[in-house]
Amino acid sequence: MGHPIEKEFEEGAMSKEIEVTWLGHSTFRIEAAGKTILIDPWVMGNPMCPDNQKKFDKIDVMLCTHGNGDHIGDAVALCKRHQPKVIGIFELCMWLGKKGAKNTSPMNKGGTQTVEGLRVTMVHADHSCGIQEDDGSIIYGGEAVGYVIEFPGGLKLYHAGDTNVFGDMHIIRELYAPEVAMLPIGDHFTMGPREAAYACQLLRPKVVIPMHFGTFPMLTGRPKDLEKVAEDLGIHVMEMKPGERKPLSVAQFAPVAKVS
Ligand SMILES: [Zn+2]
Repeated sequence: MGHPIEKEFEEGAMSKEIEVTWLGHSTFRIEAAGKTILIDPWVMGNPMCPDNQKKFDKIDVMLCTHGNGDHIGDAVALCKRHQPKVIGIFELCMWLGKKGAKNTSPMNKGGTQTVEGLRVTMVHADHSCGIQEDDGSIIYGGEAVGYVIEFPGGLKLYHAGDTNVFGDMHIIRELYAPEVAMLPIGDHFTMGPREAAYACQLLRPKVVIPMHFGTFPMLTGRPKDLEKVAEDLGIHVMEMKPGERKPLSVAQFAPVAKVS
């Protein structure tokens, strides 16, 4: 804490509107406009998730980026318990539905749907998407994706899912201009800090929240490895600790009035 942009999140008049809690790895709980959103439901087996964060009062919307176990590990169990609207790529939603998820809302890349007041656009990710069945076999789960979520009030957040950097991140910037980007930086299974720094150049968000690092020893990338390049671009790297909750302010990103 202490960076001006984070101070303004906390002090801004609308700072309580969106609150983000990192549950470790790529899993985030977001509270906005009275709704609870869970991105990439990997909780019980997630070694980074604090025990006191493993229960939910409710889940209104669940977004799944792809079918790997470290992203959908608890999707079925949490769907049965909380009956959220579940967003995922078509094939993954079909699989979740077969396993007992009731309210799936499948979509595909380039599409946008409004769910519980959120405008959710599915975008590309450069990664695999196999689903591991209980017997260890891998089945086709569609493709890995990211999401641009537009909250009531206009704040846009990009959760990249698991991905390498790809040139079309430039299109994500031009079309959606997300102010906040959650980017994997751990290396080995996703891009590392070198590639994430290049992603910052393409996306130019105001704030980057690093994810998918430190969970296992091989995920070696760290936020500090990204900081210099990001800060040179005027992008704040907002490092979170597992279980930590931080506000994101819509007011912070309101267009500045032009002085003539
Ligand atoms: Zn992963």
